[in-house]
Amino acid sequence: MPEYIYADIILPLSLSELFTYRIPPGISKEIRKGAGVIVPFGKKNRYTGIVFKLHNDKPDLTSVKEIISMTDTGLFISEEQLGLWQWVSEYYYCSIGEVMNAALPTALLAADESGKFKRKTDTKLTLSRPYTDEELSVLLDGLHKTPARYRLMIKFLDMTSYGQEGSTSSVSKSVLLKKSNTSYSVLNKLVESGILKEILEEKSRFAESKAEERRLKQLTDFQKEALDDICSAFTEKNTVLLHGVTSSGKTEIYIHLIEQALNRGEKVLYLLPEIALTAQIINRLRFHFGDLVGIYHSGLSDNEKAEVYKRICGSSTLGEYRILLGVRSSIFLPVNNLGLIIIDEEHDSSYKQFDPAPRYNARDTAIMRAHICGARVVLGSATPSVESMYNVRTGKYGYARLDRRFGDIKMPEIILTDSKEAHRKKAMISHFTPGLVSAIDEALDNGEQVVLLRNRRGFAHFIICADCGWTPICPNCSVNYTYHKKPGRLYCHYCGSSDSLPSRCASCSSTNIKLKGFGTEKVEDEISILFPDAKIDRMDYDSTRRKGSVEKLIQDLEEAKTDILIGTQMISKGLDIENLTVVGILNIDGMLFYPDFRAHERCFQLAAQVSGRAGRRKTRGKVIIQTADPFHPVMKQILNNDYEDMYQNQLEERKEFHYPPFSRLIRIYLKHRNRAVVTGAAEIMAANLRKFQGTRVLGPEFPPHSRIQDLYIKSILLKTDKSKSYMYIRELIKRNASALHQNKEFSSVRIYSDVDPQ
Ligand code: ADP
Ligand code: ZN
Ligand code: ZN
Repeated sequence: MPEYIYADIILPLSLSELFTYRIPPGISKEIRKGAGVIVPFGKKNRYTGIVFKLHNDKPDLTSVKEIISMTDTGLFISEEQLGLWQWVSEYYYCSIGEVMNAALPTALLAADESGKFKRKTDTKLTLSRPYTDEELSVLLDGLHKTPARYRLMIKFLDMTSYGQEGSTSSVSKSVLLKKSNTSYSVLNKLVESGILKEILEEKSRFAESKAEERRLKQLTDFQKEALDDICSAFTEKNTVLLHGVTSSGKTEIYIHLIEQALNRGEKVLYLLPEIALTAQIINRLRFHFGDLVGIYHSGLSDNEKAEVYKRICGSSTLGEYRILLGVRSSIFLPVNNLGLIIIDEEHDSSYKQFDPAPRYNARDTAIMRAHICGARVVLGSATPSVESMYNVRTGKYGYARLDRRFGDIKMPEIILTDSKEAHRKKAMISHFTPGLVSAIDEALDNGEQVVLLRNRRGFAHFIICADCGWTPICPNCSVNYTYHKKPGRLYCHYCGSSDSLPSRCASCSSTNIKLKGFGTEKVEDEISILFPDAKIDRMDYDSTRRKGSVEKLIQDLEEAKTDILIGTQMISKGLDIENLTVVGILNIDGMLFYPDFRAHERCFQLAAQVSGRAGRRKTRGKVIIQTADPFHPVMKQILNNDYEDMYQNQLEERKEFHYPPFSRLIRIYLKHRNRAVVTGAAEIMAANLRKFQGTRVLGPEFPPHSRIQDLYIKSILLKTDKSKSYMYIRELIKRNASALHQNKEFSSVRIYSDVDPQ
């Protein structure tokens, strides 16, 4: 192999170039494309970088810095992964360094000792050499004089099952000490005299789990048919949409598909939109697959993430994972031999990363990843996204349908209760319609459980002076403060800043300050007044920040320690609780008026998802929806669980107004401290983009929250023909942005794009 002089390196930065370094002779034999290296950067920084290219072309620089060393973690990025990074950076308009940043766990990115991955180790004890039975009995005889040492030695032999079938060679030092009830000094004597020796072994940061039952559940005839449909679709297509109503057994089908993939020697990536969901699914997977399953999400520590990373690519001394369950960012994990990717709840918008870059959609990235490495993708949903269903109808994806629940349990009964009418008749009980209150009452009487969805957290989402209308807003973001009863302060949901609850109006000094609107905290308060004997819990961003709190909430629900669970959309997905029969949805129609072309689709999906939690096992569930607009077409679609009608309506609208799947959207953001500067820059940008054919330009406009963290924001929406290449549009935007930056007035305006915004 020829030895090269230079290497182009990817660094985890937003700068869009690669950086050229000289290769020192010491590593010229080892270095190769994809390898991790430590390089100097700037005056005194060091970074972990990835080799992208080796070459002999002298760069056009006065001085070329030298690579310091290879990383000692054995970091290596395969050709396939690098291909994916490159696609993400091109498609989502970001630097490959930003993709690197999202793809690697922090502990593997760290170039200095402090942040680096540390293996967790356990000191083990083993015999210093193999002993024959005679030697061993001589040894034990000699120990009779020192009873403590003798006892310890006997315990050691006992714990290793010495001489028996299934014996192990070593035992953990701490466990041995505890079980033999002896001291360190006794043990040290045995080590010093050369009978036992200590070894350091890597230990997992996760609890062990053994598979309990590798045999899979018998599928029903309908499930079998769906599984067959998926398998036969795979002979022609790489992606199949599994459209199955809630509780139809989609997860069982995934488990069968996983088993098949493992039997072919392939690995599996299983993605869920939220950590909250992983808790229940991981138990189901571990039941069958035990320690072959790893889990990866933002709740893990840096070192835990690094362990998972290494176990999935087989570069760990610990057991190799064959199945990885994870959220969005797991799509970048180095799963080798990847044969199957499952994207559950494929319609979910949390697959899209909004901030920071890369602003990628993990579902779409999965399809590209599968394409690169020859794997297959199953997209699963009870309410597929319009885009995915369109891909089915146009023949791009295969399709399998499951339209009945397991055990032939009926879909829940949906009841719309008119909150406007109830208000008019003064029949509302606090924030609840009489229909909802009596359904909760009945469920509690029957010893059943209830879930209430309120898609807004906190207590009151605005505070208003009843005399003059003044309302306190966040000084950085011009967003209404939300009042949180715990700890009794006002919070900005955008930047996190907080303030105390004013006792007087800042404008007219009146003390007539009112709390308006109701979030989950308020619902919890009111429900506990109405149902004082019920055990009530809350699941939202605020109540789940502590590690393990989601698991605890779900466990309490499973064990019926909770009667009523109140939550944001976090509770809408995945929950599979036997005794849960009533679901209440509070003021869902607020969602219908979001200025977003997906508002109707989202509303339908949320209602269907959360309804799906009701009555999954024995009795038919009941869903009570409070709405001020019971005659809205979407409410009718929800009532009849009519996905097809929703899909057709949406498709027509999107065709007429050139929205996806009939166009590609790119939202360009411009940000600056000064309102006039950002407005001027956005006007010029939009005017320039309008000159190009094949693009429709909307805006510029201030988004609903037009000032966040002290920066004014303008956005421009581009609808581009699908026939135009994304590279062409990217160049167009880039050229315009740099032209703006040439202008002194606009040189400090931040400009970035969100491709396929959600
Ligand atoms: P989905 O993923 O479509 O919501 P699940 O796979 O969670 O549905 O199935 C709903 C419930 O029915 C689960 O408790 C699951 O264990 C059970 N179930 C589904 N299919 C079967 C089967 N073939 N045999 C036994 N139990 C099943
Ligand atoms: Zn006032
Ligand atoms: Zn703020």
